[in-house]
Amino acid sequence: MDAKNVKKLTLYINTFIIILVLGLMYFFHLCNATILVYFSIPTLFVYLFGYIVIMQRKLYFYVRMVYTWLTLYMSLTTVCLGHNYGFCLYCLSMIPIVYYSNYIAYRLNLKQMKTSIFSAAIIACYLFSTGYAAINGPLYEGPKGAAGFFWFINSLIVFTFLITYTLILIRTTIRSEEAMKQMSYVDHLTGLYNRHYMMEQLSAIDSFDPSAAVIMIDIDDFKKINDIYGHNAGDYVLKNLSDIMRSSCEGNVISRWGGEEFLILSTGSKDIHSRMEDLRKKVESTDFVFDGNKIDVTITIGLAEKKDTRSIDKWIQRADEKLYQGKNSGKNVVIV
Ligand code: GH3
Ligand code: MG
Ligand code: MG
Repeated sequence: MDAKNVKKLTLYINTFIIILVLGLMYFFHLCNATILVYFSIPTLFVYLFGYIVIMQRKLYFYVRMVYTWLTLYMSLTTVCLGHNYGFCLYCLSMIPIVYYSNYIAYRLNLKQMKTSIFSAAIIACYLFSTGYAAINGPLYEGPKGAAGFFWFINSLIVFTFLITYTLILIRTTIRSEEAMKQMSYVDHLTGLYNRHYMMEQLSAIDSFDPSAAVIMIDIDDFKKINDIYGHNAGDYVLKNLSDIMRSSCEGNVISRWGGEEFLILSTGSKDIHSRMEDLRKKVESTDFVFDGNKIDVTITIGLAEKKDTRSIDKWIQRADEKLYQGKNSGKNVVIV
């Protein structure tokens, strides 16, 4: 949700709270609960002030102001009408909000509050209000059946809030964990998978898959490209070559193995040799133009089928050996 929508939603919530306070004020009037009627007046002012705070986009301040006031309001309501109205339950639901808003403050680099002090204050309000009502009895008697009605509604709201809150929190955690995992698998420069991900894929491969092949690809004379055209030109070549590989080797796992070396894992592809030959030709015939300079790029490819190799290291080593055969035989070739 973007900042504009959060502001809009907070404005709706503030309006909803004001309507609720007005409704409760009328109910308190019916109960002759004078203290609560009077306390509702500053409460209304607090929420009217809330509009100014929201318009100024001080949402974090708004949240803190609301739950501080709500805790006081719910505690006083419990003292006046008794704990069996269920208003005290809102104090419990304040605890996760305290910790979550502190986390948001940390994320936004805002001043963090002392969560332990806030939590202790909420617990104190809860214990004092429920304890007072239990020992001395409520200050006012509400209409018959009102306590049961409010207990039910308030319990329902608090439980719904706690379940929804926990669900959102867990979903957000899973989403960010997955995003981080994805990031840890990707090479920053080329957007290809990194060595770590490729090793996981190689380990997971069926050891009896005879069609599997690893392909080691190395840019020819890449050091010269860096030396002649600069490091940025080298990066440009790496990125563009990665795009070519992505489009030419669709369906295979492509990784940046390190520096200017790439490792491809192919499974279930019968014509992988000719596909690699096509890739080599495509790279050779592509114009890599950086800063007005046309850079000649070629690649050497070593291909090793899995056959009966059980060790992943030995399998990769065979592809590496093919690659070096290619390097020693003039480069810009595919060796199988
Ligand atoms: P060969 O044909 O035998 O592979 O020769 P080469 O010059 O390609 O290989 P060499 O190992 O001598 O040089 C590789 C160069 O790749 C050296 C290093 O500075 C460069 N390199 C490694 N990673 C990057 C990178 O991320 N960006 C750039 N621009 N250069 C890189
Ligand atoms: Mg090289
Ligand atoms: Mg190399």
